[in-house]
Amino acid sequence: MLKETEIKKSNRLDFSNGWSYAPAPESTGHINIREKYGHFINGKFVEPTEGEYFDTVNPATEEKLAEVANGSHADVDAAVKAARQAYNKYWSKMSGRDRGRYIYRIARMIQEKARELAVIESMDGGKPIRESRDVDVPLAAGHFFYYAGWADKLNYAFPGREPRSLGVAGQIIPWNFPLLMAAWKIAPALATGNTIVIKPAETTPLTSMKLAEIIQEADLPHGVVNFVNGAGKTGAAIVDHPDVNKIAFTGSTGVGKIIQKAIAGSGKKLTLELGGKAANIIFEDATIDQAVEGIINGIFFNQGHVCCAGSRLFVQENIADEVRDKLIDRMSTLIVGDPLDKNTDVGAINSKEQLETINRYLEYGVQDGAEIYQTKCALPDKGYWCCPTLVGNVSQSHKLVQEEIFGPVLTIQTFRTPAEALEKANNTPYGLSGGVWTDKGSKIFGMTNGIRAGVLWANTFNKFDPTSPFGGYKESGLGREGGLHGLLPYLEL
Ligand code: NAP
Ligand code: MG
Repeated sequence: MLKETEIKKSNRLDFSNGWSYAPAPESTGHINIREKYGHFINGKFVEPTEGEYFDTVNPATEEKLAEVANGSHADVDAAVKAARQAYNKYWSKMSGRDRGRYIYRIARMIQEKARELAVIESMDGGKPIRESRDVDVPLAAGHFFYYAGWADKLNYAFPGREPRSLGVAGQIIPWNFPLLMAAWKIAPALATGNTIVIKPAETTPLTSMKLAEIIQEADLPHGVVNFVNGAGKTGAAIVDHPDVNKIAFTGSTGVGKIIQKAIAGSGKKLTLELGGKAANIIFEDATIDQAVEGIINGIFFNQGHVCCAGSRLFVQENIADEVRDKLIDRMSTLIVGDPLDKNTDVGAINSKEQLETINRYLEYGVQDGAEIYQTKCALPDKGYWCCPTLVGNVSQSHKLVQEEIFGPVLTIQTFRTPAEALEKANNTPYGLSGGVWTDKGSKIFGMTNGIRAGVLWANTFNKFDPTSPFGGYKESGLGREGGLHGLLPYLEL
């Protein structure tokens, strides 16, 4: 008779010996990308004042997709002037009902152009089309729909108070959810009556440019939303501009700290959505298969380019072997490759630099004596790739356990008691999110009350909704986005 483990192995689908799905690529015939993008200022696409451009590439093929302007101080200044004028002339005077109509229009246009937006998002950023199609784009439309509904109800949102807009909001977003992060920023700012200067990330500007086209087509008053392309310096110029009333930043904790220092004493309002190092905790009484599926989704979703990724796994000691075996089994079935293929589970790493960062962390792991298990996936010749990776034999002090890697790398550790799990989960400078897997409601309450993080999931992971507030504790940030809470950073009460 076969031993239990042998039976399991013999039943496993082995993708390494040729068993695979037929390719199912999404077509690109319907998309429209210009060769060159300047900025979108005062309702028009304009050339940069200093005429400097950089390339945005497809990280899965290393092919250039378009040239994009690198914004200077003068470009940022023109955008802020346009936003200020639009604020004084139109947007601050318009009724909430009319603002809401514009925002609903943007939401519907995102839905109409969903297919093109999803394909461009996957080409520019490397994420699987299944995610951009089923997560990023519908959630982006959802945020506009949700905040459109608040535009004429601000007095109900804050009863007995007098909500007033701030003025010009400067917004800076990262590359991991480009369109969705733009929606998180733009929708609440518009609903509350502010005008906007926003900078997309250097490696993923294209869906922002498509959103600028939508805003142009939706006929928003000129200057209400302005996009300035560029890198970190352009972002800093927005932060430092004296006529900006509020900064909303999503990105790394390092840059968040620089921004906090830069605006200290300026009177600008600030929200920061920064990095994370979430703990996913599995108890012995959890439904193991369901938990394994959730752990996989928690870290390999979007190549681990997720601020709230469940990058640290803590398993109760007596089920550790079973969980590890099941995880490795499931990891070996993940399909890594062409982001435009509908079968793909794990797409391309967003940039060469990010791949180098991930590999550097794996090196640290080797130096620290960690056991690194990587699936054997056949990778395309070009592009930036990292196979799903599980790291064992690590302790709390290891870099891989302490620092945000922002890639498909999961560390696994064990615990004996809930108190030990809590102590380990909280032993990090971050506090963005976390997950608990157990059959017992009381354990869910106990653990979620004890974990110092802004977003906690129980028996699920990485679920988002426009009505739920999102944000961090400790070095994961300040303020909340989403839900009713997401209105507050854009208002004076
Ligand atoms: P990043 O390097 O901090 O960049 C974020 C944005 O800031 C980019 O647009 C960047 O421009 C710009 N920037 C860089 N230096 C700046 C400066 N001195 N002043 C103003 N702007 C500046 O972060 P990233 O690598 O793009 O994104 C990954 C990070 O974002 C991770 O740490 C992740 O956890 C975090 N994140 C957090 C959330 C959340 O909600 N908490 C959501 C998503 C991502 P360039 O693109 O040209 O560098
Ligand atoms: Mg790109």
